[in-house]
Amino acid sequence: MFDAEYAHRRIDLMSWTAYRDRLKDNPIIFLPVGALEQHGPHLPMGCDAILSEAMAARVADGLDGLQLPALRYGYKSQARSGGGQLFPGTTSLDGATLTATLRDILRELARHGARRVVVVNGHVENQWFLTEGIDLALRDLAPMQGQMKILRCEYWNYTPQDVLESMFDGDFPGVDLEHAALLETSMMLALQPQLVDLDAIPEDALGEFPGHDVYPQDGRGVPSSGVLAPARAASAEKGRTLIESTVAEMVAAVRREFAV
Ligand SMILES: [Zn+2]
Repeated sequence: MFDAEYAHRRIDLMSWTAYRDRLKDNPIIFLPVGALEQHGPHLPMGCDAILSEAMAARVADGLDGLQLPALRYGYKSQARSGGGQLFPGTTSLDGATLTATLRDILRELARHGARRVVVVNGHVENQWFLTEGIDLALRDLAPMQGQMKILRCEYWNYTPQDVLESMFDGDFPGVDLEHAALLETSMMLALQPQLVDLDAIPEDALGEFPGHDVYPQDGRGVPSSGVLAPARAASAEKGRTLIESTVAEMVAAVRREFAV
């Protein structure tokens, strides 16, 4: 799945010669990362990849960058941030697999001559395995003496606080519990409304968890729908506001980092 509007930035839709020519300008290359994970009865399981891909496409467009196809699998779902591994459909990688995959991609980009990369993460549980992939790739690339610079970001960290407060009447449950809830549902309504089943949004939710995690996972505290916080107030308009305000902050942040 990709936004046709941004297709000209997609490396996988280019010829190698076109890519080689674009690399001469030292473009910033964006890699979206998601997961295949239950997102309640009303959202598709590829939600995190769809959202990180949409954010990456818009930020790349604002900076004349290029975009890699998304990594559409992620690290194992955790009860307190994704409902856990007990749902059919949730299909997860071992941490080492995700780390190794990112490491490989980054080494290949370096071989092509790419020097500026932004990893746009859309799945909470991926964070430290992506960090490890970056760290190991940079260790491999040490002979290049710091020529490659990589940012890892979670797109939700850029949503302005006042935008969040306006959507929750001061009742923001925190990003972990926002799994398949108001924010993700709103953004999906703005981007891919045909993939959202409004009638299936559950009445239940908020997940209630102890301060610790239990293994083997037993599903305790996870609402049976898999949705961890109320989603009923979601709307396409909120989604558009979230996407636009978040993308603007991300463009500004990446611009500062790469001095472009
Ligand atoms: Zn999600």
